[in-house]
Amino acid sequence: MSSTSDPRSLAGRVALITGGGSGIGLGCARELVAAGATVVLAARNTDRLVSAADELRKVAAPGAEVLTVACDVTNEDSVSAACARTAEAGTFTLVVANAGFGSGGPIHLTQLDDWNGVIGTNLTGAFLTIKHAVPYLSANGGGSIVAVSSIAGPVTHRFMTPYDVSKAGLEMLIRQTADELGCRNIRANAVRPGLVPTDATEAMINYPPVVDDYISQMPLGRVGTTEDVGRLVRFLLSDESSWITGTCISVDGGHHLRRGPNIEPFMEMALGDARYPAGPAN
Ligand code: NAP
Repeated sequence: MSSTSDPRSLAGRVALITGGGSGIGLGCARELVAAGATVVLAARNTDRLVSAADELRKVAAPGAEVLTVACDVTNEDSVSAACARTAEAGTFTLVVANAGFGSGGPIHLTQLDDWNGVIGTNLTGAFLTIKHAVPYLSANGGGSIVAVSSIAGPVTHRFMTPYDVSKAGLEMLIRQTADELGCRNIRANAVRPGLVPTDATEAMINYPPVVDDYISQMPLGRVGTTEDVGRLVRFLLSDESSWITGTCISVDGGHHLRRGPNIEPFMEMALGDARYPAGPAN
């Protein structure tokens, strides 16, 4: 698979990045193009994809191209078309299954549509991405898949159940993929970011009772950056990690060593006593 003798180089490789137009996906794309990969950014908001592509071309290594494709990961035809578009760009061997979002709320008030929305994007969307990418990777002699999970995969976050369940399921999807497709030289791993300022986390970052609690649970005492996550993703996609598969690696300042975040102040502000079902507390 290697196109140069430097195991860190991604020159000559083509990567599909879902949700690559913003936040962590864009941070991953910056690392990949700097390492020489051609990237295909896939998401629904095409204006944002175009802006991201313009930015990435300024930091891309020689030979690395930046392409965009409109894609909704909850729609199988859309994902299949995005994979076909990625294969047209060259030797499609790399995947970053990053598209996702979360919503907060107590279990007893969670609407079925909200549950299905989070699971449909974070888990089913990643499944569809992997399903439609692996035939190309296999035909190209193998490849590497990285899914963006979360500290919420292994650690409970009260009042964020659909999100936590989606990420726990995503991690099993990655282990299944690694086990089943290692025989085709396809590796699959997940990264577990802690709190990183992005559009998705703006409300939490700007609410001191919650962000201060997050930071108090991190031995390294700071929130992350998209570069912190992007560098790990680049490593897992490169031949530097050629004997690593089926793992879920934390990139969270050590937060996973302690307890999940306390977002109860948010829920108390929004719902008061209704955040718990009526009944006696123990
Ligand atoms: P973000 O900037 O909002 O990025 C989410 C991306 O997913 C957007 O580019 C969005 O693009 C895309 N997306 C959402 N639904 C989609 C769909 N149905 N089809 C295609 N693309 C879709 O937030 P982020 O924080 O970077 O999140 C990226 C990933 O990191 C998520 O999986 C998230 O769970 C995970 N994560 C984030 C943190 C954190 O603290 N920020 C921590 C742990 C894990 P469009 O809206 O244009 O489609």
